[in-house]
Amino acid sequence: NPRIVFNEIPNGLPNATTLVVDGAQTIDLDEVPLQGGILVKVLALSLDPYMRNRMRPADVPGDMPAFPLGDVVTGFGVGVVLRSETSLVNVDEHVYGFIAYQRYIVIPSINGNALDMEGLGLQIIHNKYNLPWRYYVGILGMSGQTAYYGLKDISRPKAGETLFVSAASGAVGHLVVQFAKALGLKVIASCGSDQKVSLVKSLGADHVFNYKTVDTAAELKQHGPVDIYFDNVGGPTLEAAIENAAQKARFVLCGMNLWLLNRYRVKMEGLIMTDWIDKYLEEFHEVVPRNLASGKLKYLEHAYYGMDRVGEAFVDLLTGMNVGKSVLVLEDA
Ligand code: NDP
Repeated sequence: NPRIVFNEIPNGLPNATTLVVDGAQTIDLDEVPLQGGILVKVLALSLDPYMRNRMRPADVPGDMPAFPLGDVVTGFGVGVVLRSETSLVNVDEHVYGFIAYQRYIVIPSINGNALDMEGLGLQIIHNKYNLPWRYYVGILGMSGQTAYYGLKDISRPKAGETLFVSAASGAVGHLVVQFAKALGLKVIASCGSDQKVSLVKSLGADHVFNYKTVDTAAELKQHGPVDIYFDNVGGPTLEAAIENAAQKARFVLCGMNLWLLNRYRVKMEGLIMTDWIDKYLEEFHEVVPRNLASGKLKYLEHAYYGMDRVGEAFVDLLTGMNVGKSVLVLEDA
């Protein structure tokens, strides 16, 4: 039962030996005890920037617990149920949630009435449009929902307003661009290469620039002011957005925390995507798969095939080599 193990605490950027595949453990699929829960064959795993923060020594504080060294890592995954001892989930149903990164996982039940997914809940997927299952760790999972929820209450968009989004070719950013256009906003977008700039333009953004070759503040001055900033990166980009904020601008702090500011009466509100699940999950699954299936929405995906590509994929993610959602595909189904 191959699994992805946190092998080494990185010094700076992770490298190919930070996460490694360990194939030593075996599992008897017919006999492994399920403790009233389910046995899942994992189909795809999400790779996300926040995981870098978990690759730290256990005694260093952080938002989420550090990955235990030498142990399997966890995150969002999608899989198919092979065996079930609970009436909550049937064999052949597909599930999405926070799981151990291994080929097969047992998810026990708690008191027989809930499945343990590290407190984040297990979702049964109703794939009405027969989309690839791996989409559920990307556009239809955390990344897509982050873009969708962030644009709802926090940004309170009004048609005709100007939205600026950073890391615009990334998993969240490229969807923010498209959702924002669909809401009638003017979209300014930044990203880190000319190739990404063309790609984001092709998704409908009104003005796209490479923040490595032009000055962000000057671009925003020319094409702003910014009514809504969807921040995925913090740092100097965020400061440039503050300098070019419109009166009563709204900043969605997706990627970073920030400094204070009152000159433009900017309202800032942190985004934790899980806060919005109860309110919008049903609507999300109504709207987004439909638009994806009809071709109205385009999904940029950077798929790596095979668990042993995890190291390379994660380094790509943290060095900006990814285009769209980074996903590790164990089996295309
Ligand atoms: P991306 O797919 O956008 O991948 C990361 C991108 O960030 C890279 O492609 C690169 O794009 C850019 N980047 C890489 N290194 C740096 C750097 N040092 N400084 C600035 N930019 C860099 O990731 P996601 O779309 O999954 O996530 C975007 C942000 O949203 C992240 O900060 C993530 O942690 C956050 N997030 C927050 C959630 C929440 O609930 N608040 C939920 C999900 C994500 P480029 O080449 O354009 O620079």
